[in-house]
Amino acid sequence: MVFENVSKILNRVSKIIGLSEEEISILLSFKRISKKEIVVDGEKYTAWRIVHNDSLGPGKGGIRFHPNVSEDEVKSLAFWMSMKNSLAGLPYGGAKGGVKINPKIMSKEDLEKVSREFIRAFHEFLGEDIDVPAPDVYTNPQIMGWMLDEYERIKGRHEPGMITGKPLALQGCKIRGKSTAKGGFVVFKELLSKIGKNKDEITIAVQGFGNAGYNFAQFAYDEGFKVVAVSDSKGGIANSSGLNIPEVKKVKDEKGSVVEYNADKISNEELLEMDVNFLILAALENQITKDNVSKVKSRYIIELANGPTTFDATIALYERGVMVVPDILANAGGVIGSYFEWAQNKTGNIFEDDYLEKRLEDMMKRNFNKVYELHLEKKVDMRTAAYIIAIKRILDAERARGRL
Ligand code: NAD
Repeated sequence: MVFENVSKILNRVSKIIGLSEEEISILLSFKRISKKEIVVDGEKYTAWRIVHNDSLGPGKGGIRFHPNVSEDEVKSLAFWMSMKNSLAGLPYGGAKGGVKINPKIMSKEDLEKVSREFIRAFHEFLGEDIDVPAPDVYTNPQIMGWMLDEYERIKGRHEPGMITGKPLALQGCKIRGKSTAKGGFVVFKELLSKIGKNKDEITIAVQGFGNAGYNFAQFAYDEGFKVVAVSDSKGGIANSSGLNIPEVKKVKDEKGSVVEYNADKISNEELLEMDVNFLILAALENQITKDNVSKVKSRYIIELANGPTTFDATIALYERGVMVVPDILANAGGVIGSYFEWAQNKTGNIFEDDYLEKRLEDMMKRNFNKVYELHLEKKVDMRTAAYIIAIKRILDAERARGRL
């Protein structure tokens, strides 16, 4: 299912830059697909660690704990990570891991056992110069801490750069927590400078009020932008004069959802169809599809979530003059933050937060501008332009290695 989108985007890129059959075959092949059964207290769980392409460097990508994890999904996510890392200019290939499990119904002790078993199953394929995991859906810094500990216990040496998104006490990186939203916000402001709109003309709706969505909304609020609607899994709220984001956050923390905040109630579908300038998608995949694309009124969409707009919907939006800033560009701040953590761990350097914030900003601006210029030059949507750049860099590395 998900991998279908991968083939569609490759076909589109191929039509524009003329990929050879050999190049397509390299892009569709996987360096390593490892699948194991993890056993915890007699219960069996299927687990994967998959490296898509490693021509640019070690595999890099998160580990997902979710009941719907499948090989098709992990492969697609690994492919996306190759594209995101390549586009961001990082020295990484793409990888992803997953365990088919429902962590919401598990005790902390069992989660720790699963995390340690995952490392026992895959440790020979992991390492700071081999393949470097990080958190993804339903995994967090604590899980990374258990995984690092298990890895170092097996290897008998310290190697903090084998995993990122770690707790600060285990050489995590302070700016990592907000780096996805920060990167997305840099992209938003860069885009604003291109379209020449003033702050007071802008209205923003944010779908998803978690790490990515809330922090984006907070950055926007802090700089005086009007965030007129936000939502979470229970529904949304709207106020045409702008929501007080810190107050909404307080209510969500105390009562569990943004819908408890005193404002007009809207559904998630209504939020997607609001007449705002910017729609920020920061929840789930497949939110804008061929079924609702014709109802979207926003002129600009920024994808902080992975895969929230389907390929077909992207094209339909482009044909209507709606710009989608694609996930592999807009949410790359997360993996850039991880790269800083890895670089500190590998070199033993400790960089100042201000310096890293500035580096993140510069990298996001540079990447956005590369994609923006190419989309104008080739007269294609931003997603296609982003993939063209990412694919070229991977193929250049393949050629330089003599594999192509
Ligand atoms: P999170 O769990 O912190 O937040 C997700 C939010 O989405 C929650 O507020 C949840 O209530 C809301 N949500 C769930 N279903 C919804 C629905 N149907 N409608 C509206 N809201 C809904 O997760 P996150 O870390 O913020 O990640 C969000 C997305 O961003 C995911 O696609 C993730 O893969 C992507 N992403 C996150 C990072 C990161 O560093 N956090 C990096 C790259 C990509």
